[in-house]
Amino acid sequence: MLTAITGVNWGDEGKGRMVDLLSEQYDIVVRYQGGNNAGHTVINEKGKFILNLLPSGILRETTVNVMGNGMVIDLEHLVHEIENLRRGGIAISPENLKISERAVICMPYHKLLDCYEEDRLADAKYGSTRRGIAPVYGDKYMKKALRMGDLFHPETTKARLADIVAYKNLTIEGVYGRPPVSADDMWAWLVEYGDILKPYICDAGLYLDKAAKAGKNILFEAQLGALRDIDFGIYPYTSSSPTVSAYAPVGAGIPGRRLDQAIGVMKAYSTCVGEGPFVCELHGEEARALREAGGEYGAATGRPRRVGPFDAVASRYGVRMQGASQLALTKLDVLGGFETLRVCTHYVVDGQRTDRFPAGERLLRAKPVYEAVPGWGCDISGCRTWQQLPAAAQRYVQMLEEAVGCRVRYISVGPAREACLVRGC
Ligand code: GDP
Repeated sequence: MLTAITGVNWGDEGKGRMVDLLSEQYDIVVRYQGGNNAGHTVINEKGKFILNLLPSGILRETTVNVMGNGMVIDLEHLVHEIENLRRGGIAISPENLKISERAVICMPYHKLLDCYEEDRLADAKYGSTRRGIAPVYGDKYMKKALRMGDLFHPETTKARLADIVAYKNLTIEGVYGRPPVSADDMWAWLVEYGDILKPYICDAGLYLDKAAKAGKNILFEAQLGALRDIDFGIYPYTSSSPTVSAYAPVGAGIPGRRLDQAIGVMKAYSTCVGEGPFVCELHGEEARALREAGGEYGAATGRPRRVGPFDAVASRYGVRMQGASQLALTKLDVLGGFETLRVCTHYVVDGQRTDRFPAGERLLRAKPVYEAVPGWGCDISGCRTWQQLPAAAQRYVQMLEEAVGCRVRYISVGPAREACLVRGC
């Protein structure tokens, strides 16, 4: 069974929490895109863990975790993430962590370039996490990047690095007027952290192909949501890689294989970290109340998230782009403190009502049309069955699933592993 768990919205839907819960049924968890620009927060019986690069299955003893070729990996960050987890009692070895030899290395100069460009853009910035992700994906497609497998070929890699650094310095000095980067420093960094990671590097695609042939259950985990996908998201305020489930086999290294199912993780209200159009954004006291209730601060950066009511237009589009066959609705408990809720059912763009999620400029002009819905006004975090949910909460869930055209199978009512209820099929 090949399953993808992906985000329907802007990211931060609670994908990590759902992967942590569902990974019990899977032998292998694979990250297939992105880098350390976002974070999953996972709370289980071992404690609270923030994962930026490692797949969420790392917290389960019997699960093998794969970092796929679609990822970009900051070696220093990964080494520290592994050390942190080990301090928290998590065992990590080449037995349970495999890194694709084709995954791209995010270098310190990628982070610098990310910062220089965001500073140059000033008020028009994209809201980058400044962790080098756009520059490193840019280099991947310019064929100026180093990959994990290059660490095994020091002579050729050192020579290529010197040429790449000379090329990068043209931009660093010429465009941004900043001091050049030293090829020797970059090489020292590669050796220092690369040597620690070498034992984990392998032909991850071959490993996964064999595992799939042997009937293993494989779970593909996305970082960020459909609305941050490089092609289908709110470009240019997107991530720099495909976040959609269709990319999962490609970014994992088994492009010839098809997914058996895609589970879309959808939040019971809207949040968005960073810049870009966010049609249902709340401001002032209303926003503060929802942000505090949901603890909406970025896992990677601590930035306060922008918040708003559930956006059915964006979520329906997200469900379609993910090809979701079932949904996990998260953070329903957060809405327990509100007497009345609102759901955005339509947009108005240039005076015309639409239920289609617009691209580009038109999205900037979209205005939300809300429908008021009664809240349930009580704590539901202890509910473990559908029947235990108040009728108003059940109606809210049903309204959302009708609005997005997909069945809600899992309902998460708290951050802890067991705080989730599963509805019958
Ligand atoms: P991800 O990147 O999609 O995994 O999401 P994040 O980890 O950035 O954000 C999700 C946050 O919500 C984390 O702090 C989770 O512990 C928390 N969380 C996940 N599901 C629930 C839920 O159902 N209720 C509550 N109250 N918190 C949740």
